[in-house]
Amino acid sequence: MAIKINDIPPEGLTLELAQDLDLFDRGQTSTAFTAVLSIQPTGGGILHVNGRIQSAPLLECSRCLESFPFGIDTELSIDLAPVGTLAADAEHELAGGELDMEFYEGDEIEAVDIVKEQLLISIPMVPLHSPDCKGLCSICGTDLNKTECGHQRNAPGDFGAFSTLKDLLKKQ
Ligand SMILES: [Zn+2]
Ligand SMILES: [Zn+2]
Repeated sequence: MAIKINDIPPEGLTLELAQDLDLFDRGQTSTAFTAVLSIQPTGGGILHVNGRIQSAPLLECSRCLESFPFGIDTELSIDLAPVGTLAADAEHELAGGELDMEFYEGDEIEAVDIVKEQLLISIPMVPLHSPDCKGLCSICGTDLNKTECGHQRNAPGDFGAFSTLKDLLKKQ
């Protein structure tokens, strides 16, 4: 939902969204979310946005490759400034605010883009479907959460490439 900056009243506006977005740019708007965003102009084209976003995107477990819904319930508090307002940014830094500063281009902002950005930063770099996921057998690929194939393996979480590197380091 695009919002024209000029249409935002001085007292601000609140949006309630419940829709799907294309979180990983896969051409599928398959991630449902709900969000409440309050947008408040603070002068100089800068908009303060706060609110709450809830979603449960499907992630792939980095150990066993199983898809699992990752629950996100996050509050945001950011400032959106027009691109090119580095002066505004510097001023903001000096004010010592803990707020995140982001930028928008043109005369409108896209609410879904704000949501997407916040969801993406809420996703762990190494998603695990469970903290004690046993992963896949490095020899036969069996999902060790489901069955035990009996192969002699490295310890869980010890990945092939890394253990080779470790061996090399040991030899030196
Ligand atoms: Zn897993
Ligand atoms: Zn195996």
